Amino acid sequence: MNLAEVIRTIPDYPKPGIMFRDITTLLADARGFRRAVDELVQPLAGAKIDKVAGIEARGFILGGAIAHQLSVGFLPIRKKGKLPYETIAESYELEYGVDEVEIHVDAVRDGERILLVDDLIATGGTAGAAIRLLERAGATIVLCAFVVDLPDLGGAEKLRAMGKTVTSLIAFDGE
Ligand code: AMP
Repeated sequence: MNLAEVIRTIPDYPKPGIMFRDITTLLADARGFRRAVDELVQPLAGAKIDKVAGIEARGFILGGAIAHQLSVGFLPIRKKGKLPYETIAESYELEYGVDEVEIHVDAVRDGERILLVDDLIATGGTAGAAIRLLERAGATIVLCAFVVDLPDLGGAEKLRAMGKTVTSLIAFDGE
């Protein structure tokens, strides 16, 4: 099976010129979902992981399944204002304006080894902020794993320039 074939592409969503890579069709496909989880954890091959951190919202679905597979805990990286306890935040640039991601102050123990997961990396703004946040909290990022990479937008390269190991299952040209 070809994973790229179970990802649906919606042109001009949410605005003209964007090709939205919709993974709900992959998640709905039992073999596709299993395969994506298996392949995302493959590069870890014996590496010790203490926790999986998933980026809201699609990173929660993949990250939750991966955490279960690895028998480790899950840490949600949420958009601003959603977490109930005391938080720390990191902001990142959007095309227009800025946004913030947050975790609870006690979400990471010093030196914890973390696998960061999201469905897709584009410019790397979101994942970059997540990395800065986790590292500020004392984490070591072992691997950053994405189902889809949009290499033309340079996000994976940006994370590699931050010294991170990045893996993805499928690359699509363009935005
Ligand atoms: P970025 O911060 O630019 O790397 O954008 C990554 C985040 O935005 C991820 O959480 C993705 O789910 C979402 N995203 C960005 N571009 C797309 C796209 N073309 N299709 C689907 N999701 C996208």
